[in-house]
Amino acid sequence: MQATDQTAPSDAASQAPVRRARTVERLVRGQPTSDGAGVRLTRVLTQDLQRRLDPFLMLDAFGSDNPDDYIAGFPDHPHRGFETITYMIAGRMLHRDSAGHEGLLQNGGMQWMTAGRGVVHSEIPQQESGVMEGFQLWLNLAARDKLREPWYRDVQAAEIPRLRTAQGVEVAVLAGSSGGVAGAVTRELTEPLYLDLHLPAGSRFEQPLDPGHNAFVYVYRGELEVGGETVPAQRMAILANDAQADGVVLQAAVPSRALLVAGRPLREPIVQYGPFVMNTQQEIFEAVRDFREGRIKGYAG
Ligand code: MN
Repeated sequence: MQATDQTAPSDAASQAPVRRARTVERLVRGQPTSDGAGVRLTRVLTQDLQRRLDPFLMLDAFGSDNPDDYIAGFPDHPHRGFETITYMIAGRMLHRDSAGHEGLLQNGGMQWMTAGRGVVHSEIPQQESGVMEGFQLWLNLAARDKLREPWYRDVQAAEIPRLRTAQGVEVAVLAGSSGGVAGAVTRELTEPLYLDLHLPAGSRFEQPLDPGHNAFVYVYRGELEVGGETVPAQRMAILANDAQADGVVLQAAVPSRALLVAGRPLREPIVQYGPFVMNTQQEIFEAVRDFREGRIKGYAG
């Protein structure tokens, strides 16, 4: 963290330029689906990509100005074995969970929940009209952490660390670090990087990436050029893993917005059954049994 170093004139000083940029391995168009009590969303990172994008398990994009698409929200449901990161571009959603946490997630805010050994929670829109837009990313936990105590943090928009590059790119550092600015949340084992980038027309953005980390870019406005390939809006570009590449370079011809996500793979078995993600089938049976027998508890009240 060099943000307080007066001798560092800009992010360029604290972040070496990318010498060899990663290329795009493939573009993925999300799958329209519905979840919760009928919330329409696009599942961008689907179950078949969990190994490829380890430690990330899922990315959902939701965005609608039709209340019928979101109003019912996500009533009480359990999670075990991973972390959920909800980032709200626009809208208001109330979170309540069985560990006693409650928080209002709104315009530009982020909620980070470590389900650990298990929580039951609800995510309910607090608006009856207007736009609801955002993302939910699932980050796996290592086997040794899957049954840890649940953890929760609300980060309001004003509390999210940000920087603006010399090229005018606005960077919200949700996790990890960029340009010498440490993100709202850091994690040791998976070292997640989660950036929301607003690129003006004609701008370029470079981000160093560990060659061993899996990474992807999701463009949600405009269009980007990534490693020589055009990535239109509503597409995820999976970045090729290249031992010689030291980062990624994004270029915007038109005003664009994108998420850049990267992390260190856990390389452990992944067994998912709905809202439970463990390492073995036996652990899934135990999660289902614990939920049925009330050991992943509902609200005390
Ligand atoms: Mn949930």
